[in-house]
Amino acid sequence: MIPAELLQRIKEAEQQARACYTDVCHDIFTHPEPGLQEYYAADLLTRTLQSNGFTVTRPVAGVETAFTAEYGSGHPHIALLAEYDALPGYGPQNDQWGHACGHNWIAANTLGAALILKQLMDEGLISGTVCYVGCPAEETVGCKADLVKAGIFDDTDLAMQIHIMGGNGADLGYRALAMNSIEFTYHGVSSHAAGAPERGVNALDACYLTFNGINALRQHITSDARIHGIVCDGGLAPNVVPALTRSRFYIRAEKREYVDELEQKVLHCAEGACLMTGATYEWRYFENSFDNYEGIPFLSDVFEEALQNAGVTGIRKTPRPYSGSTDVGNVSRVCPTAYCELGAGNTDGTNVHEEAFLPYVDGVNASESLKQAVLAQAILAADFCSDPAKQEELYRLRDAIHARR
Ligand SMILES: [Zn+2]
Ligand SMILES: [Zn+2]
Repeated sequence: MIPAELLQRIKEAEQQARACYTDVCHDIFTHPEPGLQEYYAADLLTRTLQSNGFTVTRPVAGVETAFTAEYGSGHPHIALLAEYDALPGYGPQNDQWGHACGHNWIAANTLGAALILKQLMDEGLISGTVCYVGCPAEETVGCKADLVKAGIFDDTDLAMQIHIMGGNGADLGYRALAMNSIEFTYHGVSSHAAGAPERGVNALDACYLTFNGINALRQHITSDARIHGIVCDGGLAPNVVPALTRSRFYIRAEKREYVDELEQKVLHCAEGACLMTGATYEWRYFENSFDNYEGIPFLSDVFEEALQNAGVTGIRKTPRPYSGSTDVGNVSRVCPTAYCELGAGNTDGTNVHEEAFLPYVDGVNASESLKQAVLAQAILAADFCSDPAKQEELYRLRDAIHARR
């Protein structure tokens, strides 16, 4: 349990930081940007953190809108995972970008927590390093995978994020599937499909025989796995034997190891299809691969306490069915990672990615959920930065993860 005086001081520091993080939430909300083009948000955030004494590094991992902002020294090393990309398709003509997933709200709650932790460090109440990690393009390429590869989390003892959700309470039971994204390009030989079909090698046959192979494979995979794909290029004219086709697949499962195993079998399907047709193929990952995510019980317990101290009620910890995939999974593969979803407090049944959810993530209307998210993360981090017994357990978790890498 975090000492009462420290908790009191966190709540006072939150009041001092409130105007700043609320403004940032609203400012990014009114300037929605696509993934990898979040220049307004990255500029605003790095400027704000720099003027508060944080050491900013930008770009990182070769991505212009990715950055880190660090304060303090030594361990524990706490990473706050910020996001700020928006989604397309909103407004009366469905042609506007909008923060329907509330990533502006995430950028702001991590900022608020960072400012509070800096204040506590200045007052000598906690010690360690806080690192605000600007993670672009969560909705598309998933830049956290690039940040992991660039070694940004190699020294991290604890990474955390709170994402907004529709409804009330908080949920610590989120689980995500590991996923690989594969693109096949099939090469054949064109010919007149009626005049000289015997001279052609049909790249479209190779493409759909790959689908047939995967359909047969699907009967013999575990029930958690998902393989789903599309044809991107299927040829140009019915009277020309297709010489070039393309397909894309997502392969998902509860465990990274099983996704890698299935990937080999999917590649064999393409190989067999090419053997049958005489075509050839090449393949590549067309997006970052994501690792699975599931909560660590010890971290969920400490997180629950932090949420309660932040005034959150209705906290659920039961693991949910696996759904979707996220780049937070990649972070969890290299350091202890705590992820939570916090209700916006709306009662109209709307949820993230819906146009009607937009008002609930604006800094003006979202003040209560935003404040709770700021407080919960500051309390969680301060707990680990002031309690040697919790640190010891955290380092044990970190070492176990490092040993598996
Ligand atoms: Zn989203
Ligand atoms: Zn999101």
